[in-house]
Amino acid sequence: MHILTIAAHPDDPELFCGGTLLRYLEAGHEVFIALTTSGNVGSTTHESREEIAAVREGEALAGAEVLVGGAAERVRFLRFDDEGLRDTEEARRAVLEAMRWAEPDVILTHHPSDPSTDHGMTGQLVTRMILSLPAPLVPASVPPIDKKPSLFLWDVIAGGEFRPEAYVDISASFDRKLAALERHVSQVSWMGEFMEDGLPELTRAMNRYRGMQCGVRYAEAFCAHRIHGFMPDLKLLP
Ligand SMILES: [Zn+2]
Repeated sequence: MHILTIAAHPDDPELFCGGTLLRYLEAGHEVFIALTTSGNVGSTTHESREEIAAVREGEALAGAEVLVGGAAERVRFLRFDDEGLRDTEEARRAVLEAMRWAEPDVILTHHPSDPSTDHGMTGQLVTRMILSLPAPLVPASVPPIDKKPSLFLWDVIAGGEFRPEAYVDISASFDRKLAALERHVSQVSWMGEFMEDGLPELTRAMNRYRGMQCGVRYAEAFCAHRIHGFMPDLKLLP
């Protein structure tokens, strides 16, 4: 299968579904990552947006060496401004093209109600555009596809209002997930400045909490997006 992760920021795939992606990869599936922004305001130590974006895209590719098995051509940067992603014609088109590009059987993304702005907007764009995958008259530079991917929405930071519907046991892949996350050096450092716990600690606590809920050591939580014609198959989660 083709597995597509559409995330708002370069470190989100590792944080929210890295253990699940590693399980897909181990099972022989092909993993693709599309990032709606390159996180170009996510730093206090870099001088310009361009500089932060370049650093963070490099970190995304470094993380992807682990998560997608080293294939940089399976990472797509949509390059909207961090904290500036909106529901525009341009953004809808870019998200649709990313979905068609990967020809996915499964899509993983943010919940549309995620309170973090770019997270929620990315989830909204994906859930709104999935119906246009086969539509030839919707403007796009990538041709329509006939696949009907299952769309799963991942957890929010620290749980929030998220109600899990399915859990993926990532106990065996958790250490490698954390190693991939730590390749986002600028973010681990920046988050460490203003969070009580740093990014790795936050990740461990979230995955341990979801693991406790479902009776394993570490887990990632998801719910399914349901819309006519694209009903999700929960059995496609690892
Ligand atoms: Zn994020």
